Amino acid sequence: MKDPRKARGGARSAALFRRARKVIPGGVNSPVRSFASVGGEPFFVAAGRGCRVRDADGRSYIDYVMSYGPHLFGHVPAFLQRALSRAMRRGTSYGAPTELEVRLAERVAEMVPSIEVLRLVSSGTEATMSAARLARAATGRKRLVKTEGGYHGHADSFLVSAGSGVATLGIAGSPGVPEELAALTTVVPYNDVEALEAVFTTFPGEIAAVILEPVAANMGLVLPKPGYLESVRERTRKHGALLIFDEVITGFRLASGGAQALLGVTPDLTTLGKILGGGLPVGAYGGRRDLMEKMAPSGPVYQAGTLSGNPLAVSAGLAMLDELRRRPPYAVLEQGGSLLESLLRAEIDARGLSDEVCVTRLGSLLTLFFTPGPAVDFASVRGADTKRYAAFFHAMRERGVFLPPAQFEAWFVSTAHGEPEIRRTARAAGESLGVAFDS
Ligand SMILES: *Cc1c(COP(=O)(O)O)cnc(C)c1O
Repeated sequence: MKDPRKARGGARSAALFRRARKVIPGGVNSPVRSFASVGGEPFFVAAGRGCRVRDADGRSYIDYVMSYGPHLFGHVPAFLQRALSRAMRRGTSYGAPTELEVRLAERVAEMVPSIEVLRLVSSGTEATMSAARLARAATGRKRLVKTEGGYHGHADSFLVSAGSGVATLGIAGSPGVPEELAALTTVVPYNDVEALEAVFTTFPGEIAAVILEPVAANMGLVLPKPGYLESVRERTRKHGALLIFDEVITGFRLASGGAQALLGVTPDLTTLGKILGGGLPVGAYGGRRDLMEKMAPSGPVYQAGTLSGNPLAVSAGLAMLDELRRRPPYAVLEQGGSLLESLLRAEIDARGLSDEVCVTRLGSLLTLFFTPGPAVDFASVRGADTKRYAAFFHAMRERGVFLPPAQFEAWFVSTAHGEPEIRRTARAAGESLGVAFDS
C-alpha cells in the first residue's frame, strides 16, 4: 500500500467508524464487514442502486459483495419496492399466520425438487441450526459431519476450526463453544469421498447428518468434482445419515431449483436464505415430509420464531421468486459471469500471472484466488497470498470496484451488472493485479 491513508474510507466513513466502535464490537454488526483481513477501515454505505453502492462520502462503487448474495437483480429493483410498500400498509408483524407465508412455502416447494415441507425462519444460521436439530432428533444420533472451510452460519456446532490437525479433533473454533459440543462435529475435506467413508468407519452408527454446500462458496468458490456429490449421497444413505445441502448461497442463484436441480443430486434436507428474502431477513429449512413433520407442533422437535414468516420479509421473498419465474435471470447471469471470467483471465495472461493466481466460477459466483490452484478444497486455497489479495482489494476499491474484503469469499454478479460495468471491472482488475504484484 503506497499511501496508507487510502486504506481508509473518506472523512464521513471514518467519523462513522469512530462512533461505531464505541457502541458496536469492532464497529460492525457482522465481522466480514470490518476489512480486518485486508487492513484499513470499512466505508459506510449510504445507498445502493442496481449494481452499485454509494458510500457516506459520495463515492460510487460497482458492487460484487451484493450483501453476500441476496441481490440477484441488483439493489432495490422496482418490483421489490412495490412489494414492500404494498406490504407496509397492511402491518409489519402479527403473531398469527398469514396467506403470504403459505404462498412463499408453496412456491419454494414447487421450485426446489427435494423440498416437500418447509419452515420459514429469519436467517441462514437459524435454518442450519434447526436442520441439525431435526437431523439429530430424526436419527437419534449426535454427530455432525461438515467440510473443512465450510461455513454454515454461526451456530455452535458449525464453528469448528477449519485448521488441519485440530479440525479432525473437533476443537472449538470459537471461545464460548463448549468442547463437548464441538467434539460432536467432525470435519472432512471437501471433494474427498475417502475421508468421508473413513469417518463413517470411525464413528459407526453415530453420524446424524453430513452438511455441505453443494457448490462451496465460503472458502472462495470451490466446485464439486464430478461424481463427488453423488458419492456423498450414496454414502450417507448407506450409513443411515441424513444429507443436508446448505443452499443459503446457491439456492435460486445457480438455478431456480438450486444447485441440487442443476447438479441432479437430492438431499434429505435443504437450507435456504439470502435470495429467499430478497434482501430482507428470511431463511428456511425443508425437505422430506416424514422428516419435517417431526417439527413442533406436528411433532416433538421444538423450533420457533417471533418474526418467522414476517410479512414484510416474506413479501420481499415472494416478489423475488415471482420475478425469477417471470423473468428467469439465469442466461443473463451466466453471460455476465462468463464475460467477467474471460476478461479476468485475459488480464491475468497479459500480465503473465497464470502461475500466480487462478479463477473459479460457476454461473454468477466467482473467486480470483492468489494461489496457482487448482482450487479443490480448503487445503488447496488456504495458502493463498492474502497480503497480495489485500493490495488488490484496495487497488480495486480506489478504482471504484467493491470486492469482498477477504480472499475466501465469492464475488456475486447480478443481472444489473451490465457489459460496460463488467469491462470496467476487468480493466480495474488488470491494473490492480499490477499493483498487487508490484508491492
Ligand atoms: C450466509 C450463509 C449462512 C448463514 O446465513 P445468515 O443469514 O448469515 O445467518 C449459512 N450457510 C451458508 C452457506 C451461507 O453462505
